[in-house]
Amino acid sequence: MSTEKIITMAYAANTKDSPLSLYKIERRSPGDNDVLIDILYSGVCHSDIHASRGEWGSKNFPMVPGHEIIGKISQIGSKVTKFKIGESVGVGCFVDSCRTCEQCKIGDEQYCENGVSFTYDGFEQDKKTATYGGYSTKITVDENYVLKIPSKLALEKAAPLLCAGITVYSPMRYYGVKKGDKIAVLGLGGLGHMAVKIAVAMGAEVSVISRSESKRKDALDLGAKEFILSGENPKKYANHFNFIINLISAPNDYNQHLSMLKTNGTMILLGAPSEPSAIQCFSLILKRRKIGGSLIGGIKETQEMLDFCAKHNVLPEVETIKMEQINEAYERIVKGNVHYRFVIDIADFARKQQES
Ligand SMILES: [Zn+2]
Ligand SMILES: [Zn+2]
Repeated sequence: MSTEKIITMAYAANTKDSPLSLYKIERRSPGDNDVLIDILYSGVCHSDIHASRGEWGSKNFPMVPGHEIIGKISQIGSKVTKFKIGESVGVGCFVDSCRTCEQCKIGDEQYCENGVSFTYDGFEQDKKTATYGGYSTKITVDENYVLKIPSKLALEKAAPLLCAGITVYSPMRYYGVKKGDKIAVLGLGGLGHMAVKIAVAMGAEVSVISRSESKRKDALDLGAKEFILSGENPKKYANHFNFIINLISAPNDYNQHLSMLKTNGTMILLGAPSEPSAIQCFSLILKRRKIGGSLIGGIKETQEMLDFCAKHNVLPEVETIKMEQINEAYERIVKGNVHYRFVIDIADFARKQQES
């Protein structure tokens, strides 16, 4: 194993108050089980903004965000068996975990009891080496935390599957969404648009509920069967859905939404309002309804999701941007002005860095 460090150009937030700017990081030279990836595309997730602006309390600066990474393998360690040089691969929200706890053993590494290594704003399993994300030209990752990108998926669009896609896919599988189920997607943003596409591909009958009439056409274009304006026709939609996928991150009335669930229905919470919400117990008790949360998905399930999306031709709606446009893109995301995910053309960034 070579100990030579790999210099990688990146965009980082130097402090929580600074815009992202050019920054140089080092990646480890691939160890026996590592692969080195030349990054081609990196999706821009709303979490990137929260984290790099210190809104979730992070102190790990400078921070290189990005956990929706698509690239090609350029080097492999001597014991790598799953990947070959030149192969198209992905890296999602984490790059390692303890591998020994109960959750790791069953493939739910995202819930690692000893602390998963998040792709950025985290630490490797030594608990002291900072991790840096996909707004950079190269990354070194253990092969067990790398995904294969099926050839049917267009690389320039696939990145958002690695966070937005798996975040909605995993709970649908876990809570048992099946063909013919009536599903309401509450909130049509980056996650919501993937929830609609994936649920439709699973054979569910999908409705989008939104406060904004302007989302009607998009909802139907994405494959939803109907669009419901929030609060519209409460009688018609009482006891109506098998599942509600709640993606709203502002305070919202859980009891009102629970009343729309059939007996045994489930509200899947993926939006995280900063204030606690009151739940009337009878909203649950009288109809054996439940509420469940979920965080991304494990490696095996993420691979299953990628293969599912390839098979059903499910891809995010993306707008490709240059690395230099990232601060502007952040502003647009905060304003909700994106259809539906930005993806950074990292190959373009790498080319410009080489030329300069
Ligand atoms: Zn994300
Ligand atoms: Zn673990």
